Amino acid sequence: MTTSAPGSDPQPTPSTNAYRSTNAGPNKNANTGTSADDRTPQAVLQQLLDGNDRFVQGKALRPHQDRDRLSSLTQGQAPKAVVLACSDSRVPVELLFDQGFGDVFVIRTAGEIVDMSVLASLEFAVEGLGVSLVVVLGHESCGAVKAASEAMSQGAVPESFQRVLVEKVAPSVMVARSEGHTTTDDYEKQHVRSIVDHVVGRSPEITAKLADCTVGVVGLRYLLENGQVEAVTARGVAMP
Ligand SMILES: [Zn+2]
Repeated sequence: MTTSAPGSDPQPTPSTNAYRSTNAGPNKNANTGTSADDRTPQAVLQQLLDGNDRFVQGKALRPHQDRDRLSSLTQGQAPKAVVLACSDSRVPVELLFDQGFGDVFVIRTAGEIVDMSVLASLEFAVEGLGVSLVVVLGHESCGAVKAASEAMSQGAVPESFQRVLVEKVAPSVMVARSEGHTTTDDYEKQHVRSIVDHVVGRSPEITAKLADCTVGVVGLRYLLENGQVEAVTARGVAMP
């Protein structure tokens, strides 16, 4: 694993993007009150994991959730991470990482599947908003993974648009099975790995930022039973 170079500044050159704050200085972000050191990929990962620890222990601080925080963001946003998660109602991203307004840019699709719109949103977060961490978040008891697994076992492929869910998740199940895995837990972990591979492989922008250590990519899996996220894979950051 490689980590971000000490002192590196993960913030991109301020752009004229209408969604990005234009009042942030080079080392201090007016919207977040954080310094560049707080925005290294490794530091951001730690902040999310710390938030998850608080959530799990019932000690959530619920930061950045008041009207003052919201008011401070009217001119722009500078989230620290982009999270691609499943749309499942049991996976509320800001709650489980104990984050608030302006902290994370969230993309959710059933089964955290990726299409061109998702890739565009991911690149927008990385290029346009300057996030320094990309998180792919799968979860325990994922209906999309279960549907894909059943479709492969029973030939029960939906004829509606939901067929796309099966088509996008089935390759992950195939890889897991080819490696001897047989449980839904294993399929879910492989699916997170496959989505991370897909995102990095399809996005030259994210690949370039991984190479220069300004962005990290991590795959996590959220456990419904206790609220914890477990590490599945990491690029450009080290799981503590
Ligand atoms: Zn799911």
